[in-house]
Amino acid sequence: MAIPMRQAARVSSYMLQNKIKGRKKFPLIVELEPLFACNLACNGCGKIQHPHEVLKQRMPVEQAVNAVLESGAPMVSIAGGEPLMHPQIDVMVAELVKRKKFVYLCTNAELVEKFWDKFDFKPSPYFSFAVHIDGLRERHDASVDKDGVFDIAISAIKFLKSKGFRVTTNSTFFNTDTPQTIIDVLNFLNDEVKVDSMMISPAYAYEKAPDQDHFLGVTETRELFRKAFAGGNRKRWRLNHSPLFLDFLEGKADFECTAWGIPSYSLKGWQKPCYLMADGYVETYRELIETTDWDKYGRGKDPRCNNCMAHCGYEPTAVLATMGSLKEGLRAMREQG
Ligand code: SF4
Ligand code: SF4
Repeated sequence: MAIPMRQAARVSSYMLQNKIKGRKKFPLIVELEPLFACNLACNGCGKIQHPHEVLKQRMPVEQAVNAVLESGAPMVSIAGGEPLMHPQIDVMVAELVKRKKFVYLCTNAELVEKFWDKFDFKPSPYFSFAVHIDGLRERHDASVDKDGVFDIAISAIKFLKSKGFRVTTNSTFFNTDTPQTIIDVLNFLNDEVKVDSMMISPAYAYEKAPDQDHFLGVTETRELFRKAFAGGNRKRWRLNHSPLFLDFLEGKADFECTAWGIPSYSLKGWQKPCYLMADGYVETYRELIETTDWDKYGRGKDPRCNNCMAHCGYEPTAVLATMGSLKEGLRAMREQG
C-alpha cells in the first residue's frame, strides 16, 4: 500500500472539514526547512548556496512546531539542507508526531548510520524516512557529486527498515535521464530494496542552482514519464502520488498551479509563492495566503513557472480534483490502497 490507510483517511477528513468551513486555500503538506546546511553539494541544489551566516543557523523546535500548527496542515516534509545535521531533529519529529502530524524526514542518508546514536527516533505510523535516491549507483553518485553515497544510502535504508521504520524514497529526474534510467532505479527500489513507497519529481528549476542546463521542459517531462510508466510499470510501482498527479506527469491531464497547498516554511519564514521561487517571506501561513497574488503564478502566467511540473505546485490541484469527483476518489482508493 503506497499511502497508509490511516493517513489517507485523515487527509480526506481534513479536506472535507475545510470544505465544510468554506476555507478555499489550505495546506496539505508543509515543506519545513529547519536548516539549509548539508553534508553534500549536489549540482541541482538551490539550498546550499545561502551565505555562511545563514548556513550556520538551526531553527528552534518550538518555532517549527508552531509554524506547522498555525498552518493546520496534516502532513510535514522536513527537508533542508540535511535535517540530520540539526542536533534536535529527533525532538522536532517527536513533537510533530505527538500532535498526530504525518512526518516525512527527507535525508540523503549519508549520516543515518554514522549519527544514529546521537538521536532517539522511534518508529510510528506517523513517521517515515524519505531517502533521496536519484538513480542507480553511477547516476546517483554523479547527481550528488560524490562517490560511494549510493551504497551508503541503500545500506541506510536496510538499516532503518531492520529497526522497524517506514522508509520511502524521493527521486528527482533530469534531462540526462531516459525512460530506462527511471525504470531501472524504480524497479530496484520497488522490487529489490522493497521500500514502502516512492516519490518522483522532474528536476526543479531552482534559480539558485549552479547547474541550470539539466532541468526538464514540459514536453520532455511528459514524454519521459509516459515511456517510463508504460508496460504496467506505473501500476506495479508503489508510488506515493495521487493517480491524477501521475496522469499530469505523463501528459494525460493538465492542471493549474495551487502552490498554497504545499507551502514552504524555512529559517526565513513562509516563502512566497512556493518552494522553488522566493518572491518574499512572511511570518504566518495566514499572511502567506492573504498577501500573495496567487493568480500571478503558474505556467503561462509567470515565465519562471513555464517549465514547472513540480509536486509542490500541482499535486495539491490533483488531490483537490480527486476529492471533487466520486469517480476519481474511487480510482484513487483502488490504485493507491
Ligand atoms: S542532499 Fe539535498 S540539500 Fe543536500 S546538497 Fe543535495 S539536494 Fe541539496
Ligand atoms: S508553477 Fe507553481 S510551483 Fe511551479 S514555480 Fe510556479 S508558483 Fe512555484
